Amino acid sequence: MNVTAKFPRLSGTLVLLGVLGLILGLVASSFSCGPLFAAGGNEAGGNDVKLKANRSKGIVIVVPEEIETYKVPPETVLVPVFVTSESGKAHVKHIKLDFHGPKGSVSKKVAFDQVLEPAGKSFDDILKTLKGKDKKAVKDLLKKGAYVELEIDVSALKLEEGAKGKIDVGVEATVDGQAAPVTVQADFQALALPGAGGWYGGDGHVHTSWSPDVWFIPLENRVKYAKDNGFGFIIITDHEDGINDLWSTPGGYVAQCNAAQSKYLIPALPGVEITAANSGGDALAYWMSESAVTVPNNQTYLAQELINRINGHNYPYSYAVIAHPYGAHPWTDWNATGFCGMELLSQETVAKPDTISRWFTLLRSGLSSTMSSGRFVVGIGTSDCHNFQAPGFAGFTWVYATSYSSTNRVAIWDAIKSGRVSASGRKDLGYFTVNGAVQGSVLNVTPGSSLQFQLVQTPVTGRKCTSITVFNKDQVAVYTVTNPSTSVIYWNTTAPSTDGFYVVKFEFTKTDGSDLSEVWANPVFINVP
Ligand SMILES: [Zn+2]
Repeated sequence: MNVTAKFPRLSGTLVLLGVLGLILGLVASSFSCGPLFAAGGNEAGGNDVKLKANRSKGIVIVVPEEIETYKVPPETVLVPVFVTSESGKAHVKHIKLDFHGPKGSVSKKVAFDQVLEPAGKSFDDILKTLKGKDKKAVKDLLKKGAYVELEIDVSALKLEEGAKGKIDVGVEATVDGQAAPVTVQADFQALALPGAGGWYGGDGHVHTSWSPDVWFIPLENRVKYAKDNGFGFIIITDHEDGINDLWSTPGGYVAQCNAAQSKYLIPALPGVEITAANSGGDALAYWMSESAVTVPNNQTYLAQELINRINGHNYPYSYAVIAHPYGAHPWTDWNATGFCGMELLSQETVAKPDTISRWFTLLRSGLSSTMSSGRFVVGIGTSDCHNFQAPGFAGFTWVYATSYSSTNRVAIWDAIKSGRVSASGRKDLGYFTVNGAVQGSVLNVTPGSSLQFQLVQTPVTGRKCTSITVFNKDQVAVYTVTNPSTSVIYWNTTAPSTDGFYVVKFEFTKTDGSDLSEVWANPVFINVP
């Protein structure tokens, strides 16, 4: 028996979830995992990975409820699978994937032959742990079972854009010598990323097995996923306490990024996530010196000192980006200065109001320095993906890069630092120019002259743009268009009499109106002499 329940994405359903979990626990269950609960308060944006589970004779199998690919036709589909045993001694012999597309099926059987330690938890407790926010507990559970990412080649099926399918995941196992076969089914859809000349999509915050809270996701797998799904780049940002002193050693962290980049022909940028002392929050370190022996230690430096050490590591290139500023591990010291970016969307599809108002405050307070330096706090979107989560699953960064190549990391590091960026929840792309000036530019104008905005929106397969809003520096909406009927909208206004900037927010949903997601296009600055 295999029962699925779809839960609404409202945090108000938490109590309901618990009750339903009890009811469904004895057969099979589908539930939300992770960050939605950790972050809290993000009512509008679905940012959770839903998992689907089944069991037989104490063997438990868990997969994501929905798996999507983002390049058409997809060549491979990656399926994260977790198998564990509640209490008995389990011997897993094979895992089988059956992919059923609209016009045919493919199968793959993987010999496994692994004896699993009992989880020592009931089915309900296993699910509770997986959907909880304690990442270390999740890892400890995954370690006792078998967590694997299985890939199935679907190229022969020539799946078209929008094609749907089903993936049956079956385990052949014995528990205490007794056969205990169990299967579970995931939904599949082949989607395509939007495209626009010069724009490259990627994820700026990705975890692998280098991180203490991730179990068995080799760095190479993340890079291959990015390549197979049409990304233009991927930034690997494992926790510093997982990397330790292996940053630049042979075979170490940077070397693994180099190897994966060469193998898959996509920029695989080595970054690192570093926690400030005294629970001050997390900063991402970008464009660090790849040959330095090490990077600044975790939980060692207060916020300002941490930013200074990141910025000084590969001066004048390296820069700090504030991670999940209002998330479960929030940034606490807003008096600290010198960081070049912040996550607007972190495992989120809709930004928190606090995040956006903080960003506008930072943009305004830095305005005079932006006019002379061109630098400002750049907003990015990232998934912060851990176990079961794919890069970009909620939070994505589009960059406009003019000298892109598969080996040019500098083009990506520089585009982000320069603000040629749009932060996106569900990978939809929105961007704009003012009098032809791209995002991140400082445009010199005379007061009262004409400003022509070109607003461009291009969604992922099966989605649509529902609104475009232009904000001025005071976060006041000065122009809104709903349900734009063309991908390019022009809007004219008059230049302000004092220095300022414009930011554009795009909203997208699925074509049925569900799954709201935002795109925040970084500012164009207006310099008035
Ligand atoms: Zn992280």
